[in-house]
Amino acid sequence: MSESQDCLFCKIIAGEIPSTKVYEDETAYAFKDINPKAKVHVLIVPRRHYANVAELAKADPAELAHIAEVAQSIADKEFHGAYRLVFNTGLDAGQTVFHVHAHVLTGEKLDE
Ligand code: IMP
Repeated sequence: MSESQDCLFCKIIAGEIPSTKVYEDETAYAFKDINPKAKVHVLIVPRRHYANVAELAKADPAELAHIAEVAQSIADKEFHGAYRLVFNTGLDAGQTVFHVHAHVLTGEKLDE
């Protein structure tokens, strides 16, 4: 699927909406969540638009693995490699932006 014109995260990736960049490469972009739920709360997105993690896994499993690697490298820097990785999937699970994004929660000891 190609870039979606009405997608908030496509606009962030394109630089049309400002974000605080944490990491970027050819296929992925990572930025700080505006409403952090942990000391460090980063969103990692593929540059290509997929609605959710299931679509990404089906279309490009290597990119899903890459996102996991990026999450690990952020947590290695921020909190000795400890982190929570969350993909909210579907409205009833709390997904509000339908461009797949991994929430990386780290930087402090997390509640169980
Ligand atoms: P979801 O609820 O899993 O879809 O996560 C969407 C996340 O995007 C939420 O944690 C929001 O705080 C975050 N968010 C929404 N708009 C922005 C923005 O403009 N910049 C950074 N994060 C955003």
